[in-house]
Amino acid sequence: MSLDPSRTVAELRELQRLTGDDDGAQRVAWTETWERAREWLRTKVAGTGADENVDAAGNQWFTLAGASDRAVLIGGHIDSVPNGGWLDGALNVVAGVEVLRRVAEQGEPPVKVRLVNWADEEGARFGRSLFGSSAAAGSMSDQNELRARRDADGVALPDALGQHGVDLDRALEARSELDGAAAYLELHIEQGPVLEALDLPLGVVLGTFGVERHQVTFRGQAAHAGSTPMDKRRDALAGASRLELEIREIAKTTGDGAVCTMGGVVTKPGIVTSVVETAECLLDQRHLDAARLAGMLDEAKSASERFASEEQIEVGWERIWNIEPILFDEALIELADESIREVAGASHRLPSGPLHDAAEVARAGIPTVMLFVQSLRGLSHTKLEDTKEEHLELSVQALDRLVTKTLDRVAGP
Ligand SMILES: [Zn+2]
Repeated sequence: MSLDPSRTVAELRELQRLTGDDDGAQRVAWTETWERAREWLRTKVAGTGADENVDAAGNQWFTLAGASDRAVLIGGHIDSVPNGGWLDGALNVVAGVEVLRRVAEQGEPPVKVRLVNWADEEGARFGRSLFGSSAAAGSMSDQNELRARRDADGVALPDALGQHGVDLDRALEARSELDGAAAYLELHIEQGPVLEALDLPLGVVLGTFGVERHQVTFRGQAAHAGSTPMDKRRDALAGASRLELEIREIAKTTGDGAVCTMGGVVTKPGIVTSVVETAECLLDQRHLDAARLAGMLDEAKSASERFASEEQIEVGWERIWNIEPILFDEALIELADESIREVAGASHRLPSGPLHDAAEVARAGIPTVMLFVQSLRGLSHTKLEDTKEEHLELSVQALDRLVTKTLDRVAGP
């Protein structure tokens, strides 16, 4: 039984029929539909002879024994957002099954090959993404906060997890699953427009963006819209507006994928008859390079201070959240590039804007790489999410090549 990428496409459609409806995929983690998807995956893997175990964080592992105790990991997530697409996350678990079949048929691999279906990548029900992978990576540090989380119906997170056999207090025990991991490989849909614009089916992911999120608050003086002359105003919204336009220039001049977004501005008093007294802006900045991310932040700060002084208002910055860029492994990036060129002729290297389970695994020090396959119209997290079947098939081939090359490398002298 050699690799059959068309079977992956057929199985993805089967999964969608089993766990989706007219509005899209409904495999939200910690629900019955999600369990049904996990049971379905179990039946698909059964023929390969891989052993299943579910770890303390609910991650589902399938292990093909190898000649040594080290392991090459292939990871994805079968959970989806509500009304999600048919490919986000599921592509890699289902493609991974096909690769397991091919590897198993060729006899014992030099090291273990393990497929992992991470629990709750999306965080759709409780608002906490990358649950299972952060537990396994040992970076989950918010268990106290998680204990207090509730879903929209008021169900507490620990209770929902308990119904699926997961004890939040023990979730970090999943960490032992990464013992002996020599490499982590993840295939994912791009969820953006870059590869489609380049007319390329596949690309190698260099890493995930670092993110700086701040609340920037401009403070001026409320004053009557009728009686206050234009040159006597201290208009907080003027500072916010100038900063919003400036961050676009900062991203443009920084380049190499830099993005800056002002995702919201709340003005007070927010009535038509008053000059704006406070404007609270939500600013999100991302780059793959830590120094350039820091540079973008500095530029935005000094621009905001310049605008504040010119408008005779004040400005304050407060960090909401940040994460360092997470870079993937250079040797694996080379192997991924080679694999893509072999199956598709040309490759492209690009950063990932969204975080993925791969970022957690890389943070834990495991050499990691991701492959992206083109998304049509860049759409994801909607039932409109789609990828050409021929590209899906190429992606299965590229993953398979990458697994072979990685096994050779890991087993080599
Ligand atoms: Zn995903």
